[in-house]
Amino acid sequence: MSAVAHVVTRPHPPFAVAGGRLEVHQIPAARDNLVWLLVDPATGAAAAVDGPDAAGTVAYCEAHGLRLTAILNTHVHGDHVGINRELARQGRLAGLRVVGAASTAAAIPGLTEPVDEGDTVVFGGVAGRVMRTEGHVDGHLSYVFGDALFCGDTLFGAGCGYLFDGPPAKMHASLERLAALPGETRVCCAHEYTLDNLRFAWSVEPDNAALAARIVAARAVRAEGGATLPSTIALERDTNPFLRHGSATLRANVAAAWPGRPCETPEEIFTLTRALKDRKDYKALADADLPG
Ligand SMILES: [Zn+2]
Repeated sequence: MSAVAHVVTRPHPPFAVAGGRLEVHQIPAARDNLVWLLVDPATGAAAAVDGPDAAGTVAYCEAHGLRLTAILNTHVHGDHVGINRELARQGRLAGLRVVGAASTAAAIPGLTEPVDEGDTVVFGGVAGRVMRTEGHVDGHLSYVFGDALFCGDTLFGAGCGYLFDGPPAKMHASLERLAALPGETRVCCAHEYTLDNLRFAWSVEPDNAALAARIVAARAVRAEGGATLPSTIALERDTNPFLRHGSATLRANVAAAWPGRPCETPEEIFTLTRALKDRKDYKALADADLPG
């Protein structure tokens, strides 16, 4: 088991997706990772979406009578393919389906199903859609099974991933595609970062009532060790600063932070918003300055 304490001590309960043909379980891992387990309730077969390590997921499956039969990797960072590596070391990766990006095949241990944009991954009889959502790193994939989105480190609760490979235009395009999914789509991202992201969101859009309500709710949930995830695409559209280029308040605040930089188009606004979060000015915002 990981020696690191999980920030989420009371995971979100399992929920049904795809008309009940699949369940999604949440397993806290490492410090702030969330492993999502797709479960076929008819057979007990389970597919883990990423994972920094294997122990917690394996123990969870054993405790719940589930068989881990597949891994779906969103990208090749160590806290996502760590589960592949650990299972491989234990000789337990052979025989598992491993789905990941064809374009980064060499960096995905045990890859059996290289996929890319537009491909389909069938699990539990449900056809999942593969989307290439780059910007965090090249070869980043997201998976959509019914009304659940597994988006790795692309879209976070009230945030988005760092632009390691970028460029900003690519991340912006990826986020816009995810934001166009149906509003009820559950956002199952790979880290519980929401509260920090909301602090930044409030620093740039303090007149957003939906954002204020989300902050109040998230603070209450996190104070109990709960998870703010999954969120929904509708909630992200309303409160995630990286999808809020249409907000006059956000645009004005971001533009004011970068005098002389172009801040007109959605892509320019996104680019400067991401750069402003990276500057970390918002860390100075005290809890007392937040709603709730
Ligand atoms: Zn990553």
